[in-house]
Amino acid sequence: MDYPDHFDVIVIGGGHAGTEAALASARMGAKTLLLTHNIETLGQMSCNPAIGGIGKSHLVKEIDALDGAMARATDRGGIQFRVLNARKGPAVRATRAQADRILYKAAIRDILENQPNLQIFQQAADDLMIEGERVVGVVTQSGIRFRAQKVILTAGTFLGGVIHIGLEQHSGGRAGDPPALRLAQRLRELPLRVERLKTGTPPRIDARSVDFSVMQVQPGDTPTPVMSFMGSRDEHPQQINCYITHTNAQTHDIIRSGLDRSPMFTGVIGGVGPRYCPSIEDKIHRFADKDQHQIFVEPEGLTTHELYPNGISTSLPFDIQLALVRSMRGFENAHITRPGYAIEYDYFNPQDLKHTLETKSISGLFFAGQINGTTGYEEAGAQGLLAGINAAAQALGRDSWYPRRDEAYIGVMIDDLITLGTSEPYRMFTSRAEYRLLLREDNADLRLTEQGRKLGIVGDERWAAFCAKREAIELEAQRLKETWIQPGSEEEAKIAAKLTSPMTREYSLADLIKRPELGYTDVANLKGEPVDHEQAAEQVEIQLKYSGYIDRQKDEIAQMQRQENTALPADFDYDSVGGLSNELKSKLKEHQPETLAQASRIQGMTPAAISLLLVYLKKRQ
Ligand code: FAD
Repeated sequence: MDYPDHFDVIVIGGGHAGTEAALASARMGAKTLLLTHNIETLGQMSCNPAIGGIGKSHLVKEIDALDGAMARATDRGGIQFRVLNARKGPAVRATRAQADRILYKAAIRDILENQPNLQIFQQAADDLMIEGERVVGVVTQSGIRFRAQKVILTAGTFLGGVIHIGLEQHSGGRAGDPPALRLAQRLRELPLRVERLKTGTPPRIDARSVDFSVMQVQPGDTPTPVMSFMGSRDEHPQQINCYITHTNAQTHDIIRSGLDRSPMFTGVIGGVGPRYCPSIEDKIHRFADKDQHQIFVEPEGLTTHELYPNGISTSLPFDIQLALVRSMRGFENAHITRPGYAIEYDYFNPQDLKHTLETKSISGLFFAGQINGTTGYEEAGAQGLLAGINAAAQALGRDSWYPRRDEAYIGVMIDDLITLGTSEPYRMFTSRAEYRLLLREDNADLRLTEQGRKLGIVGDERWAAFCAKREAIELEAQRLKETWIQPGSEEEAKIAAKLTSPMTREYSLADLIKRPELGYTDVANLKGEPVDHEQAAEQVEIQLKYSGYIDRQKDEIAQMQRQENTALPADFDYDSVGGLSNELKSKLKEHQPETLAQASRIQGMTPAAISLLLVYLKKRQ
């Protein structure tokens, strides 16, 4: 049947990309339908129930700055929060939360169900309706035809999904869920480049069969970090400990004994897996000299005994899985509740997408999440948000938007994917961002919330809180600059024990904060009242302490923007550029960068090669 209502945007898939896409589209004011296999699995974490971590929390906070759901759901579902790299600079600091997977899912569903302009429908999408070179709707498994101006596909690991445990294999989207086979077949008929990737997950363990007394305890941080700019510690459920154990020589022997039945080592799996999240068999093989690996034992929730042993993702046969688990300290009597497995799935070459995540070949069709070759909830959520914004913008006749590399990690990720493509699951790292001193997790709102408000996706509540924070930062920065402390004064006496050398001149409070031995809390109350806003105080301190580096990075950005504005013509003859290596010529011909800045990001490109292109361009003019 033809469904009577027409939609502006249909999102296929209710995972991390799909939920953010649907919410963003609806917040933009577009009439949106979220079509997913199963309403019970909205926001399901297929693997580790943890959100954030290095590079990833930056994405979560950017989603949050644009009023997305991930950080808010994490605050409602997080059972352990830590700040990683806490002793390092603010650019690489990252918040990570272990989540109760049931609470997280419930929070996502609650946000979805209460979002105006958004309808949810449970059924598999089997086909896309395409007229000419334009998508016009979706056909479900039972033949219901939903029409829409734009369609966002976020099918995760489900397209042509094949699950492997040892040499056994079966079709599946993830354990317990059906694959999307018909849709995968249909997509392969379209002019899109399809490849295979793989990912894996560890066996889960019943906590009642584990001896925690012999494991190292890993508590969360105090005070408990908060993920959302709008969040608060009061929202957090009960906080609990994680634990640490290790593999050992016996574990490694057991693993080696099973390699002849490993789908990875016998060549049954062809797809490439995540480099930074390898299976335990891969780790034993690649780091043969290591005699142990650390395993984090993470509870899956407050109302379940299931544990996630982080670090032993595996697709070895079940008998080997059981033996390797039981060879570890504390796990001697462990009961496995779910076997580990690997999954192979279709992904599309992201070079076939525009920066808005619309496919180049089919107008109105957007791709987001794991199907673009990424791995991780955060990467998926960020892409979903961007696709949702742009699909809705197009449907409503508004301008498209995507952040630049110097504005957001979302911009870095999209630009990396679209410009360079990926042949292995792409994971975000702080090292991928060249302007990471500016792209910190703590200032994601200052970078993006105003833009989000202009787009129409930031609601009144967040906007009011943001404006109050911004004003508090400005007033406090001003106060610190204008409040002076005299050498030999009673104020200096209060901080004398901390000063590495006595004050020889008058200092403003701002100047004092810039000194390495002092921080905001030492100085702010020397004269006057410190700002009563935790986030504003943190921001003022970071901005002062790193002002020199921040200014230098702003100069670099200005220089890069000049390159961004230097277009490389489509008919650019790279073969005629003297001095350019054949390797770079062929890479440039393959990637066809549109600007000099895009060319500079191609792997192997050097400043010297960029100068050659510039010189050649000038000669052509
Ligand atoms: P998903 O979360 O997979 O969501 C896809 C959604 O689309 C599902 O709700 C599905 O039901 C729905 N869907 C699919 N096809 C259709 C259709 N035809 N019609 C209707 N609905 C459809 N990430 C890491 O960072 N580290 C890891 O170690 C890691 N290990 C993983 C191990 C396994 C076994 C799996 C399955 C995933 C793993 N991931 C890991 C990846 C992580 O789960 C994904 O990156 C993330 O979930 C991707 O989000 P997504 O929204 O793109 O897709």
